[in-house]
Amino acid sequence: MNKVFIGIGSNIGNRALNIEMALANINGSVGQIIVKSPTYETEPWGFESKNRFLNLVVLIDTELNPDDLLDALQSIERSLGRKRESIVYQNRPIDLDILFFNESVINSPNLTIPHPHIGERMFVLKPLADIAPELVHPVLKKSIRIMAENCPDKGLVKKVDDSQLFGRSN
Ligand code: ADP
Ligand code: MG
Repeated sequence: MNKVFIGIGSNIGNRALNIEMALANINGSVGQIIVKSPTYETEPWGFESKNRFLNLVVLIDTELNPDDLLDALQSIERSLGRKRESIVYQNRPIDLDILFFNESVINSPNLTIPHPHIGERMFVLKPLADIAPELVHPVLKKSIRIMAENCPDKGLVKKVDDSQLFGRSN
């Protein structure tokens, strides 16, 4: 079994529902969700949009290899309405990123693991630090806790009360 951290984000449509559907799909066809972080509301990072993101991180157990896992996650993204129309950052109903895959280091044309932007993005580091503060980045050799303390990202990252996510229309 492989231990994999997946970063999840949504900033258009019914964001809470998009995330619930992604979690259900992951549990059904990808692997078993072992731990789920709290959810954060965050400002778009790297592009201008009035639509804030909901972000969280899950730890899963999966038998899929990294390439098959990426395929499976992209098929969930497509099934939830994700279209890749441009190479720049954009609004998206769902984004599923592989953050860590065991302690693997992978640099292939369509897969970089650990995910290259973990250290710059508080919306990834905060939820990761909630569930795995002592996890050590296999390339940078720093713990998530230290990376979060040193992260220069000053964008809004605000914890959302999970019980309030259900029944919200956005
Ligand atoms: P981003 O998540 O950076 O906003 P996208 O979700 O549009 O961008 O992903 C663009 C490409 O990133 C995907 O087609 C995929 O091949 C590639 N990619 C590279 N490394 C990873 C990773 N660790 N997890 C998910 N996608 C990755
Ligand atoms: Mg992505």
